[in-house]
Amino acid sequence: MTDVVVVGLGPAGIVATSVLATAGYSVTAIQTATANSDRCPVASPSSTIRRRAWQRAVPAPYPQQGADAVGGSKLLAAPQSYRLDPWNLRARSSTLTRYGASALPADADLADWPFPAGELDEYHQRVERAMNVGVRPTATWTRRMATTADKLGWNSFTAPAAASTDCSSLLDRARAVGHVDLLADAAVLGIETDSSGAVSGVRYVRDGEVCQLSAPAVVLAASVVSNARLLLLSGITARGQVGRYFMAHNCFVANGWFPGTDLGRDAAGPATATAVTSFEGDEFDHTGLGFLGGSILQAAMTGPRTDGWRAAVAATLPDELSVPDRATGWIREQQHSIGTVWAQPDQLPRAENRIDLDPTYVDALGRPVPRLTLDLAEDDHSRAAFLGDRMQEWLRAAGAHTTWVTPLVPQPLGTHLYGGTRMGLDPNASVVDGYGRCHDVPGLVVVGSSTFPGTGGRGPVQTIEALAWRSAERLTEDLR
Ligand SMILES: Cc1cc2nc3c(=O)[nH]c(=O)nc-3n(C[C@H](O)[C@H](O)[C@H](O)COP(=O)(O)OP(=O)(O)OC[C@H]3O[C@@H](n4cnc5c(N)ncnc54)[C@H](O)[C@@H]3O)c2cc1C
Repeated sequence: MTDVVVVGLGPAGIVATSVLATAGYSVTAIQTATANSDRCPVASPSSTIRRRAWQRAVPAPYPQQGADAVGGSKLLAAPQSYRLDPWNLRARSSTLTRYGASALPADADLADWPFPAGELDEYHQRVERAMNVGVRPTATWTRRMATTADKLGWNSFTAPAAASTDCSSLLDRARAVGHVDLLADAAVLGIETDSSGAVSGVRYVRDGEVCQLSAPAVVLAASVVSNARLLLLSGITARGQVGRYFMAHNCFVANGWFPGTDLGRDAAGPATATAVTSFEGDEFDHTGLGFLGGSILQAAMTGPRTDGWRAAVAATLPDELSVPDRATGWIREQQHSIGTVWAQPDQLPRAENRIDLDPTYVDALGRPVPRLTLDLAEDDHSRAAFLGDRMQEWLRAAGAHTTWVTPLVPQPLGTHLYGGTRMGLDPNASVVDGYGRCHDVPGLVVVGSSTFPGTGGRGPVQTIEALAWRSAERLTEDLR
């Protein structure tokens, strides 16, 4: 018996564990592990994917991007660390006020977050202190793009980043002052409930043995796809709401060729970036544009160029460059003269984009793998076209000779995923409340971007951490 089980020790689970243990509760934190950097075949098996619900889903061509280790997917991150633009927390009501009901796409289910936008501020401040969020020294490329943004009259700033990708020092501090049992080599198989429907513990597998652990509270922090899958595997459907409103940052870039100029982009990693906020949220008039929201635009450093980077650029070179050798020879020669800016656009919540259990494919233990249904809507294309134009304008104003944009494709296996356990006030339209408490299962709290009602146009990790802090703090009160 323990006071709280925390499932998953990515940033969300680590923050929750830290808050609960520091408040004096005994926490058992369960995190799966893999022998190498592959995904765990039990906790994070390969999904199946499709664009539309009437299609047969096919096995994903590669694993979900992320990590199965203490520290979670943030271990792979830049890690840029943003506060979400407050407009996103009020997207529905702000849109109604400024543009009227006709601006809300009929097939999207835009929702406000179920608490006042300013309520996250103090938690952001705590996270920023705990994770040492600050700005990295600027570089030739980021300075060039900041100066250009100023000339264009755009609002730009140096992107904030956490000092490290590894937030396990927070866990170490919690273990030093509180009671934390760490099972860092076990995979949770399901959440258990009692006859009243309240949470009663978890079932997990460790060294091939299935074990049970009782607890009056469980914090589910296994990330977007696993949160939904574990709930569904446990028979918790929240009146059909679990899995709904799956969303992704369908990221794309604009490249610019600056012949004869060394842009110096490999002198630092992608945490060093200039960010432009003029085209996110409601920073510009959307009248007649056919979309809501937008994206922060970023000119980031790359770190050392990789074959993967060269192959990605080679795949999108425009014909006007007349490059004879698309196989990367020209790219290798010109790589110091290719600048890139990057968008992570909003995607609106649509009920048909969802996570459920695949009826055919199973994991290493014979349990259904997640099935991801995600498509792009007309407004996704309009938003991307608008942002692509702005990104090319930025590159050209910075001196690019030729610019080109990479195609927009749905990214259900990508780095920034959202939804599946949406938060809201109405138990018939959401899974959890504003504190992540499951409407239908007392004692069960869900943390992570699976609870976000929308994506926003910036990286999610700091908002995930702030929200987890707030949820865990509330749980300490509920447990009293
Ligand atoms: C390559 C990459 C780069 C990124 N860069 C940025 C960035 O710069 N800025 C930003 O804001 N965001 C970034 N992100 C996104 C960010 O890392 C994630 O949003 C964040 O890590 C999510 O936190 P989480 O704790 O909810 O989930 P995760 O970090 O995914 O952690 C979940 C943990 O739960 C564990 N788990 C899952 N199922 C089980 C189970 N059944 N039993 C036990 N354990 C389980 C997993 O192994 C994992 O360790 C990036 C992501 C990737 C992949």
